[in-house]
This record gives sequence, structure tokens and C-alpha cells, in this order.
Amino acid sequence: MATEFLDGQLAELKEKGLYNTIRVLESAVDAQVTIGGRQYLNFTSNNYLGLANHPRLKAAAKHAIDLYGIGPAAVRTIAGTTSLHEDLEHKLAQFKRAEATLTLQGGFLANLATIPALVGDGDLIFSDELNHASIIDGCRLSKARVVRYAHNDPADLREKIRTNEYQRGLIITDGVFSMDGDIARLPELVEVAREFDLMLMVDDAHGEGVLGEGGRGIVDHFGLHGQVDIEIGTMSKAFGVVGGVVAGKQRLIDWLKQRARPLLFSSAMTIPDVAACSEAINVLEESDDLVKRLWANADYLKQNLRAAGFDIGATQTPIVPVIVGEAATAQAFSRALFDEGIFVMPIFYPTVPQGKARLRIMNSAVHQQAQLDRALDCLSAIGKKLGVIR
Ligand SMILES: *Cc1c(COP(=O)(O)O)cnc(C)c1O
Repeated sequence: MATEFLDGQLAELKEKGLYNTIRVLESAVDAQVTIGGRQYLNFTSNNYLGLANHPRLKAAAKHAIDLYGIGPAAVRTIAGTTSLHEDLEHKLAQFKRAEATLTLQGGFLANLATIPALVGDGDLIFSDELNHASIIDGCRLSKARVVRYAHNDPADLREKIRTNEYQRGLIITDGVFSMDGDIARLPELVEVAREFDLMLMVDDAHGEGVLGEGGRGIVDHFGLHGQVDIEIGTMSKAFGVVGGVVAGKQRLIDWLKQRARPLLFSSAMTIPDVAACSEAINVLEESDDLVKRLWANADYLKQNLRAAGFDIGATQTPIVPVIVGEAATAQAFSRALFDEGIFVMPIFYPTVPQGKARLRIMNSAVHQQAQLDRALDCLSAIGKKLGVIR
């Protein structure tokens, strides 16, 4: 068989302890999940606001299925689109205080759709060295040359811009960096983009529903409406559903509708996804209660982890890295927590640098104080046993 070489590659991953086994959840995604018939406290998902199992989103999806069925059954540019999809795009534009938006099937695809539609051969992309894989892949597809600048460093970006030749240029940054939880220095990037007449794009996957007034995202957080050319977002994280979004000027969206390949050659979000996302916006427009609870929980956890002596890096968001050093320590820590009924993923090289292996604790609005306390107790006890803290 021509695929036999994979056996060797798989064996090698297992030997190195890099083989990833995907956990199977037997319940909805919530603060608690069921795995192998047992209950676990869940600190792994991007379900920041608890919307993945929210009664209003579920009801909206069911209702929409009764009216519109399930799938779009073809690509939108050929078979037409539903009024539900259009409504969601209008609502997203209003919510994000942008001129227009386009939805795609996911945030990953939103990057693949957008970057190659804007730059190509002869152009230059300036990309933060810690940008998400979907940005990296979108850049590759574009055939533009990519220059990586030092993480969140506008001075290095300026230097790289000055020392490179290009026709058209595009700066791309994550909004919130998902392994450290730090926030892009967007106001300074806006200045650089203006100074050199470059396009600026921010991927706000972890800021959507988290940053800004009522979860309106990083552009709202910094009050930069109309000053960032391209905002990428996802409805697969805080929105609790699945889907991607591009927001910007009407001309950007008009152009993407002509040229974005994942729109032209792949079917749209399904009806229940669209209806649930629309309801997620309704929930957020009505109240910022969930966003406030998310931040209160995150602050509580961060304060107590610091007090216990853990190194939680430079996080500014509800993503909390607990940096333990070696990959083996992170893995042992995660296993010991799992034995105690707490589900936390270890992250290590090559996802983060050598010696910076960590647990990555994802907070949500729906964790109860008692659940946070239990997690903190276990983290401290195991952290001491493993010599991570004293
Ligand atoms: C998660 C993530 C994506 C992918 O979003 P999906 O909707 O899951 O495809 C894209 N970009 C960034 C920065 C992300 O963190």
C-alpha cells in the first residue's frame, strides 16, 4: 500500500509523545462535560460565553429548520442565498459597527477567502510571527511574499517595512494571541499602516464576544472603528456555533463576493448555524451580563493562580496560560488533573517555544465559583507535587 509510510510516521509521533488522541465528549459543551461516562470540569473549550448550549440559540436553530430546512444545497453565488444569511450579515455589521460583512463557513476559511483576494505575486504581507495557522495558510495561498515581524512589535514592523520593496502591502495580526492571551497593539499598527499606506487586517477570533463593549471585539475595544481595513472573526468561539465573518468597507465585501474562492466554490453555513449565530447576537445586544461574568471569572482565576505562585505569563484576556516549563511536566500535570475530574489541555513545542510548555486554562461565563475553587485547589495541590510551585 502506498500509504504504508504513515505507519512509521505515526509510530514516531507516539515515541516522541507528540501523538494527540482526541477526547470524545458524550454531552453538550458546557462548564461540565461527560467523558467516558464521568463528569469533568471543562477548561478547554472556546465557549467563552456558554452559548454553545444556550436554550435561546437551540430554540432559534430548531425554529429555523422548520422554516428553511437544513442545508444551503449549493454555493451562494450560483444557487442564491437565504434571507437568513443576509439578515445575519446585516446584524453582524451593526453589532461590529462596520459598513458591511460577509459570512463564511469558518474563521479558517475567512482567512483563506480574504488574503488571496487582496494580495498576490509582487505584493508583500507583514505578518506577526505568532499569527494563527489559518493566517499562515491564507498567506501561502496568496503567492505574496511574507515577511514576519517580531511578536507584537510595531518598531520591528516599521523596520521590516522600510527595508523591503513591494507593490501593495498588507499587515496582518491576530487580535488576541491564543497561546499567551495577550492583545495586539492595534492603535500603533493603525499608525504604521497609515504612515506607509498599507492595508491592515486583524483576526479577532479570540476577541469576538470577549473584548469591547458587550463583546464587540478588538476594534471596538480600542475605538478604532473604520480605521482597520479588514476584520476577520469567528462564530465558532464565543458565539458558540460555527462560522466565519469578514467585516469592513462595502467595497471590500463587494470584491470578496466576486473573488473569494471559499465563497465561490464551497457551500454556505447551514440554516441552524445561521439562525443560532443570529440569536447569539440578539443575546449580546440585549445584555453584557455574560461578557461581564466571563471577565469576573477570569479575573478571579488569574488572581488566585498568581497568589498561589504560578507563572501565568502576560495574559490580558480570559485565556490563562499556566507555564510549567517542560513538555513532560505539562503532560503529567494535565493527566493528574484529569484523574481529579478536571479537563485542561497541555500545550508544548512546537505550538509554544521549548521550555515554555504550559496548561492552557480557558475560562467561561458559565463556570460557577465553586467550580473555579475546586479547580484552583487541584491546581495548587498538583502544582506542589510536581514542583511547579512551592
Ligand atoms: C480559532 C481561530 C481561527 C479558526 O476559526 P474557526 O471558525 O474555528 O475556523 C482563525 N483564526 C484565529 C486567530 C483563531 O484563533
